[in-house]
This record gives sequence, C-alpha cells and structure tokens, in this order.
Amino acid sequence: MKLSKGYLIDSNDLNLNDLKLIFDRTDEFIKSGNFSDFDYLKNVPLALAFFENSTRTKLSFELAAKRLNAHVLDFNSDTSSLTKGETHLDTIRTLEAMGVKIFVVRHKEDGLHKFLQNNTNNIIINAGEGESDHPTQGLLDSYTLKNHFGSPKGVNLCIVGDVLHSRVARSNLILLKKQGVNISLTAPKELLPKDDLIKGLTIYKDLDEAIDNVDVVMLLRVQKERMKSELIKSTEEYHSKFGMNIKRYERKPELIIMHPGPVNYGVELDEKVILYPNCLIQNQVKYGLYIRMAVLSLLSDYIKR
Ligand code: ASP
Repeated sequence: MKLSKGYLIDSNDLNLNDLKLIFDRTDEFIKSGNFSDFDYLKNVPLALAFFENSTRTKLSFELAAKRLNAHVLDFNSDTSSLTKGETHLDTIRTLEAMGVKIFVVRHKEDGLHKFLQNNTNNIIINAGEGESDHPTQGLLDSYTLKNHFGSPKGVNLCIVGDVLHSRVARSNLILLKKQGVNISLTAPKELLPKDDLIKGLTIYKDLDEAIDNVDVVMLLRVQKERMKSELIKSTEEYHSKFGMNIKRYERKPELIIMHPGPVNYGVELDEKVILYPNCLIQNQVKYGLYIRMAVLSLLSDYIKR
C-alpha cells in the first residue's frame, strides 16, 4: 500500500488511509528501538533545505533520514548562492543535477512548497510553511494523542493562544478534525484568525474555562517574530489568562498538556509544569522522529530511480 500522493505539502493531502499507513509504520519503527537502521533510503541523496530556523524538526528529519540510510545534505541558505540572487527553484534544480531525490523544505513563504513540487519530478516534503502548514507536526501530535487515548476520536482538545500565526494550529485543525477530535479554542481575540477553518468551533473565554471542559490543552508558542504590530501588550496578562501554571494543573491533574516547542517559559507555560507526567511535550518530540521515519520510508515508493 502506497501513500495517496508522492509528496507531502498540505495536511489536506492526507486521507484516513494515509494516516493509518503512517501510524502503523511509526508503530513498527518505535518497536524496533533506537539503535536499528533500515534501507528504505539506502544511498538516496536527500537535502535538508531549511530557510527558517529550526531545532526539533530539522534534527529529527536528519536523524530519520540517516536511520533510513539516506545520504543527507545539509543545505545552508545563509552561505549558499541564494545570497547572490539564485532562486529557490534554481537551487532545487542544481541539487537535482547532483541526484538529490528528496527535498525537506522549510520556508516562510506560503505557497513556495507547492510551486517547487509543481516544478520537479522529485519529492518535496513540507517541514514548515509560513503560517499555513506543518504536516509532520500535525502527524506527530495526532500520533501522541492516539498513543495516549487509544484513538483520538471523541477526545476534547482546546488549542490555546496564537492561533493566528500558527501553522501548527492549522495542520492540527485539518488532521485532528478528520480523526474525530472535538476541537475548541481559547485565545486573546487579537490572536484568533477570521478563517473558515475555525468556523463553528467553541471558543472559551480563558484557559480556566477550557480546562473545565476538555481533556487536552495544546498550547501554542506566542510567535512575536510574525506579529506585524504588538498584539500582546503584556505577557503577564497573557500568562494570567492563557498560561499553564501549577495551580491550574493541580485543579485537574489528569489534563493532558501539549506544546510544539520551542516554549516561552512564563508565557505559555511555567517551567515546573513540564515535569508532570501528563505533560507530553517530550513524547511529541520523541514520536516526531518515528513519524518522520515513517513518512520518508513510505514516500520512498515514489522515488524515480
Ligand atoms: N516549531 C513549530 C513550528 O515550526 C512551532 C513554533 O515555532 O512555534 O511552527
């Protein structure tokens, strides 16, 4: 069984069958442990093309590709010919001439990934696109929920905070809705998008009201770097209404806490909260590696050799 598309650009591209294939393969990789490798990408040149900063996503894609025995090229945009005016497409074509078959791309421009995919016969994987999509984050979050609850279906989950600028929120809205998660939101109104994607969702007035009604809170990073004006006047005020602290945690210790990272401590979350067993941030990172191994290995069926 193959994935329905030979690339991964848009969370909407993934149907339920694709999700099952990816999650089953993820289970297999997790079972195999940390020290085994696989030949799905043996000798396949793969480029990591990150035009925006990243720790988790980039390193887990790199490790995933290496565990599948790819030849990994780490393309550094700051020291590349992009600084001399070469276009992204020319860069891809140059790497293709060297035999690169898979491009893992992160870029701040919405639509660039699709444009590149339309202009190549090779495989583009979206590792973060502007404010619009981050499919492997949505996948690893879905997997984290599935692992914890058995199935994400019927789980009540509230997305908290900077929904407006968050590609993580968008990917999760698409993927979790598909799997029957009941999604709600809470955020300062300046940070809520006017978007069809959130139409009809319950919006809680603050985190306390959300906690009373849900099983999971998915906290989002406040993305100051994407704000054109200062949308949050006071971080203390934000934290008091929307931040996770010990007091709130103790009110409902069974509450599950997620955050895609990186965390702004004291804004979205108090540092002590990460030590609690139901705070699944480390699991999200851990599963991210195996999810990316699963995606890469399944897409290897589409490599033109
Ligand atoms: N790491 C996630 C992303 O790349 C979340 C964030 O940066 O806040 O979108």
